[in-house]
Amino acid sequence: MRNTEEIWRLVDAKRDPFQDLSDRVWGMPELAYTETRSCAEHTEMLRQQGFRVTEKVAGIPTAVMGEAGEGGPVIAILGEYDALPGLSQEAGVAEPKPLPGPGFGHGCGHNLLGSASLLAAAAVKDWLAANNLPGRVRYYGCPAEEGGAAKGFMVRDGAFKDVDIAISWHPAAFCAVNEPVSLANTRIDFSFTGRASHAAAAPHLGRSALDAVELMNVGVNYMREHMPSDARIHYAYLDAGGVAPNVVQPTAKVRYLIRARDLVELRALITRVRKIADGAALMTETKVEAKVVSGVSNLLGNTPLERAMQNNLDRLGPPPFDDLDRARAAEFQATLSDEDISTAWRKMGLPVRKGVPLCDVIVPLEVKGAPMVGSTDVGDVSWVVPTVQARGATYAIGTPGHSWQLTAQGKLPAAHKGMIHVAKVMAGTAVDCLLDPGLVAAAKADLAERTKDNPYEPVLSPDVQPPFDMSKTAA
Ligand SMILES: [Zn+2]
Repeated sequence: MRNTEEIWRLVDAKRDPFQDLSDRVWGMPELAYTETRSCAEHTEMLRQQGFRVTEKVAGIPTAVMGEAGEGGPVIAILGEYDALPGLSQEAGVAEPKPLPGPGFGHGCGHNLLGSASLLAAAAVKDWLAANNLPGRVRYYGCPAEEGGAAKGFMVRDGAFKDVDIAISWHPAAFCAVNEPVSLANTRIDFSFTGRASHAAAAPHLGRSALDAVELMNVGVNYMREHMPSDARIHYAYLDAGGVAPNVVQPTAKVRYLIRARDLVELRALITRVRKIADGAALMTETKVEAKVVSGVSNLLGNTPLERAMQNNLDRLGPPPFDDLDRARAAEFQATLSDEDISTAWRKMGLPVRKGVPLCDVIVPLEVKGAPMVGSTDVGDVSWVVPTVQARGATYAIGTPGHSWQLTAQGKLPAAHKGMIHVAKVMAGTAVDCLLDPGLVAAAKADLAERTKDNPYEPVLSPDVQPPFDMSKTAA
């Protein structure tokens, strides 16, 4: 790793407390919208670093923003710190070993995500001060990326309205500019209400809400053949009516997660799923109510920013992983199948190389991988602010997302090196924007071009509130 530039040295100068911050957040895994301690850790770090702090951004108790600098363009660096249920795991151990406690774990690496973004913002703050230049840098601590769509609510509340450029990243197996492909999605709860009765003595008097949910699911499953091939629909029962089979179930509730390539396709699919729900209610003489829980937009790319970020990656080279890091990563690869590992290479559009446990390359910008079939709430930010994201190599190639292996690698020296590396990539991209008004103008023109025939219409209607209690069922 070449490490010559001032901004990169400023990142290095601060690395230790930010590695510690990441490790502390790893050790206090909190689910979506309950990240009280993790957010407090980030808030405290912002204060220590001399940022002007705004708490409870958009009325969300676990969202925080810190700003530094004066005048000039506003560069936002976005972080996250939510964990996942069912992914508790001892650090550094290459076999499943949950820790005592509620079973939560940082199986998506958001401990690193938040800390590296805050580190990048702090280094840019120091760079602005050292060079006495106009410009502001902000760190946004964004909660509930895992299904809570917090950034969508923050966008709706205007939290990014005076931001010129947004930069973020996600832990990954490879170092690359993130290909801006993700699915728009929404979660909708369908609650059916029927009438209870004795299932044997008076079945004709009962109207089963459970039947309605089952018929709805059958209808949606038949629709799958006739929807766009990259759309996805999943569902989970939130209430199956009860445990007594001799009662006609008077209530039932199902949560649908509907995903599509873009907002236009998503809206069309939502309309069809709602019709099927109405049809199921009609068939069973029950009533149905639909409530939107959350939603995110697909990601928009930004060519000028992607080029600027790639340039930083190319100048920096891959993270300085050593033989010990590779040996530890190989232990985790030994828990994976050959297919897990080869799929990871192919997804990035790279030829499969055996015996390479950690990333040792920078993926070129023109290499295109398989389109991502997940979703992220960064999507909503990308519709209102020119946005770019990095992938930072922090774990063994082939490690599945949301896995115990990912939790286990979250405190290894390789994870720390990857997080410092990607902080340099983000801080370097921010400095490029601060030094070059032409880059900021080009990024804005790119966004205007992408949205001119297709303006932003968020999935979240004004009446939808952040699902603050969404993690209760998992807790
Ligand atoms: Zn994630």
